[in-house]
Amino acid sequence: MYSAAFPPSSRYVVDLRSDTVTRPTPEMYEAMQNAPVGDDVLGDDPTVTELEELAAKMTGKEAALFVPSGTMGNQIALASHCDRGDAIIVEEEAHIVYYEVGGPAMLAGVVTFTLPSNRGAMDPGNVEKHFLKRNLHTPGTSLLCLENTHNRGGGSIIPIETMREYRLIAEQHDVKIHLDGARVFNAAVALGVPVIDITEHVDSVNFCLSKGLRSPVGSLLCGSHDLIDKGRIWRKRFGGGMRQAGILAACGLVSLTKMVDRLAEDHARAKDLAKRISVLPGLSIDLDTVETNMVLVNTDAPAGDWQAWLAEAGVLCFPVAAHRLRLVFHGDIDDDCVDRAEKAFQEVADRCQHGITN
Ligand SMILES: *Cc1c(COP(=O)(O)O)cnc(C)c1O
Repeated sequence: MYSAAFPPSSRYVVDLRSDTVTRPTPEMYEAMQNAPVGDDVLGDDPTVTELEELAAKMTGKEAALFVPSGTMGNQIALASHCDRGDAIIVEEEAHIVYYEVGGPAMLAGVVTFTLPSNRGAMDPGNVEKHFLKRNLHTPGTSLLCLENTHNRGGGSIIPIETMREYRLIAEQHDVKIHLDGARVFNAAVALGVPVIDITEHVDSVNFCLSKGLRSPVGSLLCGSHDLIDKGRIWRKRFGGGMRQAGILAACGLVSLTKMVDRLAEDHARAKDLAKRISVLPGLSIDLDTVETNMVLVNTDAPAGDWQAWLAEAGVLCFPVAAHRLRLVFHGDIDDDCVDRAEKAFQEVADRCQHGITN
């Protein structure tokens, strides 16, 4: 039953483009079929309510809001925390500035100050230096945005000690903290701590159900009652109010109760493949930076060429820079996929070395 979820072609392709590509598990299809539902915009969907309560509890927040995407969750957070014309601080390659098509300027109407980082972790002293007090000339900083794990950092983890430092300085300057925790459960599992050990240091967190947690759709924005009440209005305004959303929330409940611990398998396979292919000619990998479910591969040849050659050999991935590929591990990648990916990399490395790449 439900085998349509896994079309045969997918068995021959190792898809390392993103952890968003996972299809729902059979257990999720069953949960969707059996979920009690209602009109969630009217507050009537018991499955959505159950999911929001569980998310709030796990992250240690008063309330949560089920939203269609991580991007919307982040944009709702900015709009709910900030007034128009406020300043926010965000890491210079963060999803919020890099992959949300100008949302902060267009939607919340905030001015964005971007800071450099060590693989996603900004220096707390430098952050503090850039907090602005509002006066006749300058905007006031109302929000610090963090990203953990960090996507363009290669799934890198911000140490808990650094999270604590951000909290201290933010409190001193009356600045709120929003965590783009699309993959915060990956960080928690890799550190071997409950997610609340990370989220306790922030005012709001958004995390994705649709990545390593394997749900088809959805994210949760968690925070205070006040913030989530504002967020519910912004969600409606952005067109994100969903009616019988319980069919999606049912998958989210499977994600939060059954899919968190298994993230460790994705991390182990990422390390395993990274180690195996790091010895190949024509590429290099800094193995110490493989902390969660992503591997950044530096290629001598242009990354776009590698992408095409690997695709021919049955492995899909994305370039993230001129000479850098990103590999992302997820629930649809098993040990056999890792073996096949290794073979594909070997094949391409071989062809590169012998100059028969065209
Ligand atoms: C994936 C991701 C998001 C949200 O993505 P959506 O596709 O909108 O769900 C937000 N932040 C980070 C860091 C991400 O990797």
